[in-house]
Amino acid sequence: MTKFNTQLIHGGNSEDPTTGAVSTPIYRASTFHQRVLGGHPKWEYSRTGNPTRAALEKLMAQLEEGVAGFAFASGSAAIATVFSMYSRGDHFIVGKDVYGGTFRLINQVLKRFGMEFMVVDTRDLAAIEAAIQDNTVAIYFETPTNPLLQITDVRAVTVLARRHHLKTIVDNTFATPYNQRPLTLGADVVVHSATKYLAGHSDVVAGIAVTNDAALADRLAFLQNSLGATLGPDDSWLVQRGIKTLAARMRIHEENAAAVVAFLQSDAHVAKIYYPVLPDFPGHAVAAKQTRGFGAMIAFELRAGLDVKKFVEHLQLIDLAESLGGIESLIEVPAVMTHGSIPRAVRLRDGISDELIRLSVGIEDAADIIADLKQALGRLD
Ligand SMILES: *Cc1c(COP(=O)(O)O)cnc(C)c1O
Repeated sequence: MTKFNTQLIHGGNSEDPTTGAVSTPIYRASTFHQRVLGGHPKWEYSRTGNPTRAALEKLMAQLEEGVAGFAFASGSAAIATVFSMYSRGDHFIVGKDVYGGTFRLINQVLKRFGMEFMVVDTRDLAAIEAAIQDNTVAIYFETPTNPLLQITDVRAVTVLARRHHLKTIVDNTFATPYNQRPLTLGADVVVHSATKYLAGHSDVVAGIAVTNDAALADRLAFLQNSLGATLGPDDSWLVQRGIKTLAARMRIHEENAAAVVAFLQSDAHVAKIYYPVLPDFPGHAVAAKQTRGFGAMIAFELRAGLDVKKFVEHLQLIDLAESLGGIESLIEVPAVMTHGSIPRAVRLRDGISDELIRLSVGIEDAADIIADLKQALGRLD
């Protein structure tokens, strides 16, 4: 077995079996000629299976060390399809800090179908244990979380889950398989917004699910085809192309993140920094145990009373935008943007202050990112 960074480039079907082309072709076909009536050809119809999508799915299964991968039209579609394995009356434990769209899916869609959810801080094993009911079927969480980068011990949660015959589903969008492979830590299903680091160039919306359980794989294949939110061949190709440079990008992302954190630590406008690489960060020890690197998502708070709006609007290089994980540095204010729909009292209780800023550090020259932060912070004096 080749090493992870080599698999990024040569894994899956990186070469076209018919022509030897070193880049997987884009099979832009909805249907395939069947030469025998009633035969079961490998390719029939592109919702069910498409060779370009299949190449990406095989690659992702390999990178996450699962038995099967599934590509969807968005991360949200991947998550919705995974939850649709379950039924009315099933109860889930959900991590406290999950993606806003996942909360919306849970509260405004899945609850209408009779599924039940309890939100728990998954860093607290006793709290998880206390939340388990007779009808609990799975634990769903993200680590690190958005935007506070809280770290859940994946191994510890999966051990607890197995003891209670529960499945564990991890959203691995922030860490990517480059840094963290939850299936190897005992999880049953991994989901991704491939829109972020996997594709990496802010040019495609896509989702992935991978499992290492053959029964769940059959179920997901059936549901992917039945619900039909599949990723098209062009977008599958873009995601696969992005994945080839994941290791190269992540190294620079992390190098730049370290430089940006060092700068923020030295700047008097900054009150607090959230980044798991910092030894005094609460999740540092667990992160160090389960991830190769610490990623390039940073959150920080300006000193109380400083004008967050003025700061972000004066940035020139760093884009004020939602999303993350692209080659360009992206900054956002959770209280106003990604977490704006959460009532202020709840948000403050959960540690998302009005002064909190989330930065997805890109792969530009670190000196330019820092210079931009510095000039915009200077405007606050
Ligand atoms: C963006 C995101 C999603 C949703 O993915 P889409 O591709 O936007 O549908 C899910 N989870 C996390 C952690 C995300 O950042």
